[in-house]
Amino acid sequence: MIYIPSRMGQLNRRALLRQLQKLGVASRAELAKSLGMSQPTAGKIVDELLALDVLEEVEVPPLNGKEHSSNGGMDNVQRGRPGRQLRLNQSSAKLLGIQLGVNETAIAGLSLAVADEDEWHFTFNIGSADSSPAKIWEQKLRGAVKKLGGEDFLGVLLSVPGVVDEASNRILFSPNIHWTEKADLAAIVRRVWDVPVLLVQEERVLALGHHVAHPDCEDFLLVDFGEGVGGAIIVQGKPLANPLPISGEIGHTPVPGNRRQCGCGAVGCMETLVSLRGLLESFSASNSRQENSWAELRESISKNGIPPWLAQTLDAAAAAIAGALNVLGQRRVVITGSLTELPPAVVEHLSRAIQSGAMWARFGDVECVAAPRRRTAGLVAMGIDRLIVPDSSPKDLVPKRKRAANLPH
Ligand SMILES: [Zn+2]
Repeated sequence: MIYIPSRMGQLNRRALLRQLQKLGVASRAELAKSLGMSQPTAGKIVDELLALDVLEEVEVPPLNGKEHSSNGGMDNVQRGRPGRQLRLNQSSAKLLGIQLGVNETAIAGLSLAVADEDEWHFTFNIGSADSSPAKIWEQKLRGAVKKLGGEDFLGVLLSVPGVVDEASNRILFSPNIHWTEKADLAAIVRRVWDVPVLLVQEERVLALGHHVAHPDCEDFLLVDFGEGVGGAIIVQGKPLANPLPISGEIGHTPVPGNRRQCGCGAVGCMETLVSLRGLLESFSASNSRQENSWAELRESISKNGIPPWLAQTLDAAAAAIAGALNVLGQRRVVITGSLTELPPAVVEHLSRAIQSGAMWARFGDVECVAAPRRRTAGLVAMGIDRLIVPDSSPKDLVPKRKRAANLPH
């Protein structure tokens, strides 16, 4: 069941949901006051969202026998609901989140409450040698239905890497999972769970998740390191709007002298050096062993410090990131993923190198912080904005955007 009231109503609803994300729990009166809405307006929205199971009421014991706040108290007395507060439904999963990785697909039923840590309920791998990966992927998804159910989901959020046209639910280009460019992933998922499916770009999801966890952090560039390297930009609390369905592709910045072939078809991309595979390739080249694990790299760095090959790699990544900061007018970088699992000296080196390339650092502060991936929080935020209180009609569940005239195909 998707809810489609007037545009103004949508904005009010979205504002109220966002406020509850921030506050955790609040009374009707607290919500009305903090949003500058009249109590009847806020109350009506709350009733509608309660009926849809998007919100739930919780009994909160009064503090020291007093009401929580003067406004909350008045509200409770007026409505005859002593100590009743509201929160986003966290008792049942309302959305299904799927993360499609290069090797692993992870699935979780998601409640609407803000999760502090990602927790996946089902994972699978489709292997690499098969000639019809889309078919295998669909079969494995069916295996997840038994575990996760599917009747009550409002929709599925499918987080994917690559260049994603979210407006048309299509992957235009995926350097590390090329089979997804030809497969209609949304249709496959809909055959398994018959609810609306939205494809979302994975770094945008991470950036939104970080913003949900840190609502005061309104402007930043997030760069995620893993099987690939990608970024996403948040400006004034929202993903940067740009004319093409491509942004944050910082991993495909060429590094002079790097001769490695990249999955995107180019030679010398930064991600061929600093992706998981790239780092292990360089580590193996630097010692006599054929096979090196991620744990061995971590141990070697904590024992011997940062080797010259890694310093060069981090400097190359930092140059691309600093270039992005200089162009975008940003001063805060959030680093997520594999680099944050290595000893802290690694992100510290990266941070110093970013500062030396960022012009703002010559006279102001440039921040670079490591943070956990908050993918499920980002998926829930996307689900609230695009499925539960979308801008458009139910047939067209993705936000309207001006389509670029020169999109491929
Ligand atoms: Zn590339």
